[in-house]
Amino acid sequence: MSTAAPNKFKEMEKDIIKLTINDRQVIAKKGVTVLEAALNAGIYIPTLCYDPDLKPYGGCRLCVVEIEGMWGLVSSCTTPATDGMVVQTETPSINQTRRITVELIIANHHGDCLACAKSQDCELLKIARYLGIEEDRVERLRKGTQVFSVDKSHPAFIRDLNKCILCARCVRACQEIVCHDAIDIAFRGNLARIATFGDKPIAESICKSCGECVARCPTGALVPKWEKPPAEEVKTVCPYCGVGCSIYLGVLDNRVISVRGDPQGSANRGSLCVKGRWGYDFINHPERLTAPLIRIPGVSRGAGQNGKVHEIFHEASWDEALKLAANKLLELREAHGADSIAALSSAKCTNEDNYVMQKFVRAVIGTNNIDHCARLCHASTVVGGIAAFGQGAMSNSYSDFEKTELFFIIGSNTTECHPIIGSTIKRRLRFAGAKLIVADPRSIELGEHAAVRLPHKPGTDVALLNGLMHVIIRDGLEDKEFIRERTEGFEDMRRLVERYTPEAVEAITGVPKSDLEAAARLFGEAKSACILYGMGITQHTTGTDNVKSVANLLLLTGNIGREGTGFSPLRGQNNVQGACDMGALPNVYPGYQKVDDPAVKKKFETAWGCKLIDRPGVTVTEIADAILGGEIKGLYVMGENPMLSEPHLEHTRQALEQLEFLVVQDIFLSETAWLADVVFPAAAFAEKDGTFTNTERRIQRIRQAVPPPGEAKADWGIISALAEKMGKRFSYQSAGQIMEEIASLTPIYGGIRFWRLGQDGLQWPCPDTSHPGTCFLYQDGFARGRGKFHAVEYIPPAELISKKYPLVLTTGRILEHWHTGTMSRRSNVLNELYPNGVVEMSPIDAARLGFIEGDLVVVNSKRGRVEAPLHITEKSPPGVIFMPFHWREAAANILTNDALDPLAKIPEYKVSAVNAVRRRKKIR
Ligand code: SF4
Ligand code: SF4
Repeated sequence: MSTAAPNKFKEMEKDIIKLTINDRQVIAKKGVTVLEAALNAGIYIPTLCYDPDLKPYGGCRLCVVEIEGMWGLVSSCTTPATDGMVVQTETPSINQTRRITVELIIANHHGDCLACAKSQDCELLKIARYLGIEEDRVERLRKGTQVFSVDKSHPAFIRDLNKCILCARCVRACQEIVCHDAIDIAFRGNLARIATFGDKPIAESICKSCGECVARCPTGALVPKWEKPPAEEVKTVCPYCGVGCSIYLGVLDNRVISVRGDPQGSANRGSLCVKGRWGYDFINHPERLTAPLIRIPGVSRGAGQNGKVHEIFHEASWDEALKLAANKLLELREAHGADSIAALSSAKCTNEDNYVMQKFVRAVIGTNNIDHCARLCHASTVVGGIAAFGQGAMSNSYSDFEKTELFFIIGSNTTECHPIIGSTIKRRLRFAGAKLIVADPRSIELGEHAAVRLPHKPGTDVALLNGLMHVIIRDGLEDKEFIRERTEGFEDMRRLVERYTPEAVEAITGVPKSDLEAAARLFGEAKSACILYGMGITQHTTGTDNVKSVANLLLLTGNIGREGTGFSPLRGQNNVQGACDMGALPNVYPGYQKVDDPAVKKKFETAWGCKLIDRPGVTVTEIADAILGGEIKGLYVMGENPMLSEPHLEHTRQALEQLEFLVVQDIFLSETAWLADVVFPAAAFAEKDGTFTNTERRIQRIRQAVPPPGEAKADWGIISALAEKMGKRFSYQSAGQIMEEIASLTPIYGGIRFWRLGQDGLQWPCPDTSHPGTCFLYQDGFARGRGKFHAVEYIPPAELISKKYPLVLTTGRILEHWHTGTMSRRSNVLNELYPNGVVEMSPIDAARLGFIEGDLVVVNSKRGRVEAPLHITEKSPPGVIFMPFHWREAAANILTNDALDPLAKIPEYKVSAVNAVRRRKKIR
């Protein structure tokens, strides 16, 4: 007989304790507090300052209990439970003490419960009732010692210190969970109160508007401005960035009225950033498209956005709009061949939408001309990752970060672009002793927390990474066994980096050699290190080289294929990983199966019942040239906005205006939709079912919470209807049915079914329905066999500064906005927090040019000019200016360089040569 089971129980017994609470025997896990032991056993103890996600505080003194052998009353939230302990939680003396404590709190509380937004959900009121304190006594007790003016400065929430009970949950949440340190307890004794850093109104403080404090406040001291209880909540996923935070949409009268972070969500554990928390009112925006639109005959595309909608388009029925689109696409195919049509799929849409779109392009139109915005952000990750490991996705998971000893962040402003990951890293640094290296030309927030900062010049990443590897090899810190057992190509790489001495690298990058050496030693000596990177690495003409260099450093130190290590490209849009997985790319079917592989082609031909072609199509960044060259005549754009997202926008505009036929499918009349011949109104994320795949390869369910406005439909439904008009029946009844087809054709999604995705989704590869999903990749081997080193030589950016254009322009995102602003600029809170685009410049450059804060400046490149107000900041190093790309009124991409990485075809958004002149003085 096996002895495994009894031993296992013995092991488990070591982890548990037994105690007696209110004469009941209770079993608890070792390490819990008395309060937690009681709560877990279903024994209620009132408390106002306890929060399971925060450290024990013992501030409110309501959770007092009697413990045999201990003198007086002890706070149960700070007392560890021990074996054999005997606890009483409800004696007359305890209740009397609690009553006095609550009455004292109430006496210092000015709130008028009837008028308070939180009255239905106030924890203080609930506890007062529990302790039998009558409502009229509550009213009589309330007198307060100080009266505060209510802080209404923030567009999303109100801060009313008159209702604050000093439980400090908000302060602790701000410091311990999101690590923004925007508030603290000021003063002592009776004067104690919560204050922002610098005691400013919240909107003028360093508050990041994440709302973590609001979500944790037990009373009405911090409440959203429009607090109304929803009638129901629907679990889904945030529609903004690739972190993939799990949320509950609050619904009332068929409208989304609130968002709450899901405490069980593995990506966010209840936290959200400013966009996820407050940026959802775009769903109900009056500018939502509600009916198909057809361009009025004779109205040119040049009429653009300056006209009124009804002067450019007329509303049409679905039948009329679909027929027109079908006939025009069939005509183009007949006259010029299938390759005269291209389509852009969407990283904002679901996996099911993207799957149906690429199937439509391949099986109905008959071309591989399908791509999407991954080309503009992480195409080089896919190419470089496949070259090094055989796979281009993030190798590790967020849960892995909990085991990472050293984070190396290069080319990612993580706290602005992936805020929840930014907070996770800050927590690891603050509470777990992890260390951080930051390499970024700009002074980003995480740099303040770094053990070593490497402020390299834009576009010198390869030289920097080669320099780090030079020092690691020189000092014997490479992982020799890993290199021998699991890699190839080491010698070539070693020979090349031999030339990248710290002195040579300092000359190229501007990074002092001592800092380079310190960072190399830190990385080489770490037991577990991971590299996180963003578009600062990928958006270069050397983007693929940069990614290969990142991979080299991981292979060199054996920091891949183990827990706590890894290759972490931080994907941009909510479903950019999924859109790539679904084959919305010109060279691969779903699951990265190559279009020119005969066996793969045959498989899809059999499944889809049609002939397919094996010639890869054109990329997003080649489409404009192909239109201007007359090869592409028709374009179908689903949920993308190339009129703001492409580099060298004037070139894009010329191309789109020359198209014979343009269909745009979107939720708003985007800058691109204004140029369309037919516009299809689509459902937003909250109005449809499906899945998104986040940056850690986690496939998560999104669920319909409200109906789409007017006649808008789910994207896959629109495409299916168009396919039918073009003679091919897509008979999908639901998104779940589409996922079953995806799973049947896509080995990495083979085990994905809606019914399996439950609370937290599954991470691919997940080859069959019994597979639990894969937390981190490459444990037993790389997808390509051995990990491959590449000898990568530094190549300067395509465009260098000159006398005429002496500044480097680099572009990126900011915390409050998203991509081309179609959603975030239609959110009142986000718009109010950050209303317009700016040009960020260093104080040194500003002084040299005679500019002052708020001046209206004109930035010129070889490709165009843009005006925007100036913001002088130390974040920009001398010689480098920064512009976010979210505003059409200050469209940074008018200026950016459309030179491409030769392999990934990603443009060099991060380095353009520009000049700046003052237009006129304007004080903001
Ligand atoms: S909103 Fe976020 S950053 Fe601002 S005070 Fe609250 S927790 Fe801190
Ligand atoms: S971090 Fe990303 S996914 Fe999470 S709430 Fe913010 S925008 Fe949404």
